Amino acid sequence: MSNKRPILSVENLTKVFGGVVAVDNVSFTVEEGEIFAVIGPNGAGKSTLFNMITGVLPSSSGNIYFQEKRLNRKKPYQIAQMGITRTFQNLEVFDNMTVIENVMTGAHITMKTNILTAGLRLPSVRNEEVKTMERAMEALEAVGISDLAYEIADRLPYGSQRLLEIARAAISNPKLILLDEPMAGLNSEESRQLVEVILKMREQGMTFLFVEHDMETVMSISDSIVVIDNGVKIGEGTPEEIYQNPQVVAAYLGD
Ligand code: ADP
Ligand code: MG
Repeated sequence: MSNKRPILSVENLTKVFGGVVAVDNVSFTVEEGEIFAVIGPNGAGKSTLFNMITGVLPSSSGNIYFQEKRLNRKKPYQIAQMGITRTFQNLEVFDNMTVIENVMTGAHITMKTNILTAGLRLPSVRNEEVKTMERAMEALEAVGISDLAYEIADRLPYGSQRLLEIARAAISNPKLILLDEPMAGLNSEESRQLVEVILKMREQGMTFLFVEHDMETVMSISDSIVVIDNGVKIGEGTPEEIYQNPQVVAAYLGD
């Protein structure tokens, strides 16, 4: 029935920090077009998992495949060029830049120019900058904050800065976006806006892998969920299956 194809496969992935096994032999597969959630208590290993997928941290063992290509040992910029971008658990905006300039920095992973050619101010470089600005504006429109394009980024409300980060992650036209606790710190109106943005981008073909503590959001927008506790995968399935998994309920959802 399903014509879905795997986009990301994590196989027996492990990360050891000194004596601590932060991620312990975790495997799962994300399919194209899915909204896939990773849940688990603080310290479960969720951010470490994201850091390995995006090349920020080397894995201790196991494999990561993106569209059948092995990601192990690739650098973060190479992984970004292949089509995986992310946001971080803590807000990472360039405070003293405008919103549109912040979004434009996300395009540089795919731009042909470098600092040297940019310094020469060649017409081709100016052209590319103009195109990047247009794309940045489109990315801001997609997340609903294009009216804030020329504001200084850190003057924006927290929720708008979160949307700015998603625009920056989306401008390079990635195939997969990783979001680390996107709803944290948002008020209910901001959360609702962010959920709408994620659902709209998914409709346009984007795949999302996200870590989130807000169970209402996780259960309402996820196609698949993996539960991690103490580095170990303790459950996997649809929201309905997760709610009915006694081990997951005992360890995490609790009462
Ligand atoms: P989560 O995102 O699920 O809250 P983390 O991935 O941040 O969990 O952390 C998992 C475990 O790994 C924790 O015990 C944490 O203290 C440890 N850890 C994370 N990053 C590092 C690091 N760079 N060096 C040492 N230990 C780390
Ligand atoms: Mg974390």
